[in-house]
Amino acid sequence: MVGIVVVSHSRTLAHAAVELAAQMVPGNPPAVAIAAGLDDGTFGTDAVAVQQAIEQVDSPDGVVVLCDLGSAVLSAEMALEFLGVELRARVVISPAPLVEGLVVAFVTAAGGAPASEVASEAANALAGKIGQLGGAVATAAPADAPAPPDVANTVDQGPPTASATFVVTNAHGLHARPAARLVSIVRGFDARVWLRSVRTGTAPVLGSSLSAVATLGARQGDHLELAAWGPDASRARDAVVALAERGFDDVAEVAAATRPAGRTTGGPVGAAPGVAIGPAHVMDGGRPVIPDHEPGLPDAQWTRLMKAVQLARDDTDATRHRVAATAGDTDAAIFDAHALLLDDPALLDDVRERIDAGDGAALSWDAVMTSAAGNLAKLADSYQRGRAADVRSVADLVLRHLIGAPASTKAAGVVVATDLTPAQAADLDRDTVQAVVLAGGSPTSHAAILARAYGIPMVTGAGTAILSVAEGTPLAVDGDRGEVAVDPSEDVLSEFRERIAARQDALAAAAKMSVGAAVTRDGTVITVAANLGSVDDARAAAAAHADGAGLVRTEFLFVGKTVAPTRDEQVRVYRAIAESLHPGRVVLRTLDVGGDKPLPFLRQATEANPFLGERGIRLTLQHPDLFLDQLVAMCTVARDHPVSVMFPMVATVAEVIAARRVVDAALAEVGAKPDSLRIGIMIEVPAAALKAATFVPYVDFFSVGTNDLTQYALAAERGNQSVAELADGLDPGVLRLIAALCNDAGPVPVSVCGELAADPLAVPVLLGLGVRSLSVVPPAVALVKQRVREIDLVDARRVSAEALACESAAQVRALVTNAVELN
Ligand code: PEP
Ligand code: MG
Repeated sequence: MVGIVVVSHSRTLAHAAVELAAQMVPGNPPAVAIAAGLDDGTFGTDAVAVQQAIEQVDSPDGVVVLCDLGSAVLSAEMALEFLGVELRARVVISPAPLVEGLVVAFVTAAGGAPASEVASEAANALAGKIGQLGGAVATAAPADAPAPPDVANTVDQGPPTASATFVVTNAHGLHARPAARLVSIVRGFDARVWLRSVRTGTAPVLGSSLSAVATLGARQGDHLELAAWGPDASRARDAVVALAERGFDDVAEVAAATRPAGRTTGGPVGAAPGVAIGPAHVMDGGRPVIPDHEPGLPDAQWTRLMKAVQLARDDTDATRHRVAATAGDTDAAIFDAHALLLDDPALLDDVRERIDAGDGAALSWDAVMTSAAGNLAKLADSYQRGRAADVRSVADLVLRHLIGAPASTKAAGVVVATDLTPAQAADLDRDTVQAVVLAGGSPTSHAAILARAYGIPMVTGAGTAILSVAEGTPLAVDGDRGEVAVDPSEDVLSEFRERIAARQDALAAAAKMSVGAAVTRDGTVITVAANLGSVDDARAAAAAHADGAGLVRTEFLFVGKTVAPTRDEQVRVYRAIAESLHPGRVVLRTLDVGGDKPLPFLRQATEANPFLGERGIRLTLQHPDLFLDQLVAMCTVARDHPVSVMFPMVATVAEVIAARRVVDAALAEVGAKPDSLRIGIMIEVPAAALKAATFVPYVDFFSVGTNDLTQYALAAERGNQSVAELADGLDPGVLRLIAALCNDAGPVPVSVCGELAADPLAVPVLLGLGVRSLSVVPPAVALVKQRVREIDLVDARRVSAEALACESAAQVRALVTNAVELN
């Protein structure tokens, strides 16, 4: 039987995950070894410990290694280098999610599957959850599995040898344990068993695959159709039907998840990472009280309201500027939306109507805004539902001015509140507030986004009991794990102190990895730059030791604005970015918006398919003044800093020639052409990749936008969950486009700035194809630099050549995972 190794930063986590997985195969667990934590209490991973664990569970059937995150994967890869050649060939590192993957790996290994199948089954372990939550579903059939038959009958395979329909009677449906039991039974027979849910009517799945069975989403009362082929088909059918009648042998009670009594509040969720210990400061988060009587005639009421709205507008503007300066423009944009709400004519008309009917200003305003928030809160889309909080935030701000009760959030220590509006969160002082604990709230709220931007740990959903803690009570907060310890004992305190120290060590280790150039083993220097969307991102990129910026998405300066930013505004921002990263090169991309992200100040017809419409360079060429302003700003900054100008969504040479004419006009306004100025294009349109040679005379560089290139190459819309699985940049079709580009680029350098550049499995493939510069989000710089340093280009070329011949992205991923020569 295949042995399993668990590599995790946390020993506790690894043991708990193994215990959970072992429940699925009672009496027949595979050999398992744990290499987790540096000791019982210290987070970390150690390649030597992983090597020893592999040796401990090795068998002729091989070993599958499952890891949690980041350096766990690196340690596992490094451990392979320490093994003898023969043993190394038997080991597969699976990219599976740790907990779900381990459960599937246990069941699959216990069924006698080979290491490659155990690893690939585990890698598909999220399919059930994704399917249940409405995302794309991996059917997870092994590579050599037969095509799904019609469960009742098939022309290809002939009628099944045995078939049946059975009912799922378990209260929670075919959840993990019963599904695991079903798969174990099926795997015991020499038969191909397919299952299909009559209720959902989706395609049949292989009964021997736990990840596939999970996608059935079978609930109590569901009828499942079974069809079986092969020598043991009838026996397999009878065994499954008998198992279903026994309730899938699921007699075990699930132990209630418990937390140490008196130590934590109920149901908390980590919303912003970090660990802190400090005194509680309970904020009065209550809503302003509306007075029973508001004296004054309707006109006077209206004037009162207008004054309050103006004061709220001033507050909002001030908050916007403060947040832009501290957290960056992206996070500040929410306050533009608040300003628009304060001017919303429909809302104000409704308020006026109520005031004219005799209600007071506060009562009228509150009623209209409460109703608007209520309508948003009912919407199906969670993002739109979240906007209800923005309406409430604006409503409260005006109310406080109306009734003379300005909110005060100036606080220190651990702030405890029911919830925080974005404005209150923006007011948090990162020097004095150690953490935030919210009785309610949500990790996707703007308050949480701002807490993350400020680096303040936050826990949401802590429950109302937390609001009754006395002022100054010591609180220990873990925003990673979602834990709050009230008045902790000395033991608990020292545990939290250890977590703080471990976090500081991890941050220091990550920072160390990012210093210096990324040089491959054979001595080739690879640029690892950062993708930016604000001045603040530029600072984060500099702190992460990025080699400049490979993509500045300048859209952040334009979206949410009612007029285009001026040349001066743009110069200020581009200069601030370039200064933050000086002397690194900064690649400024010209405006890349379109019908999917319309700008109020650009006229655009409604398009049926905005992604295929007037976006990127197509749009800016239609608006020469806007384009010229942006290029003048970019060329101005290029006089003092190494700047590249990059055009998005290029499909034809004619577009580049037209765009270069505007650059020439901009240079004429700025003066002489700065020596360091470079002009390049993004390769996002498949046709452009295949025509690379024709662009060569007109460009200084190519940068592959794999996000769009992938969506266009695979006809799989970005952000559409139901086709998310298709849209994998490691699909050999996408790789062939990049290979064609690299082959035809001649002397023009090729970089990659799409998300694929940050995928550790993609890095060797891209370098092997000829890419010499990668641009990734700032937090990924360290990891990608580290990955580059592990690669020898000779090996990378071999792997990338093999990748081009693969049939699927999954195969490419397995290929790179197994390419131990790279490590
Ligand atoms: C891309 O398409 O890969 C890219 C980097 O551009 P964006 O994600 O901004 O469209
Ligand atoms: Mg793009």
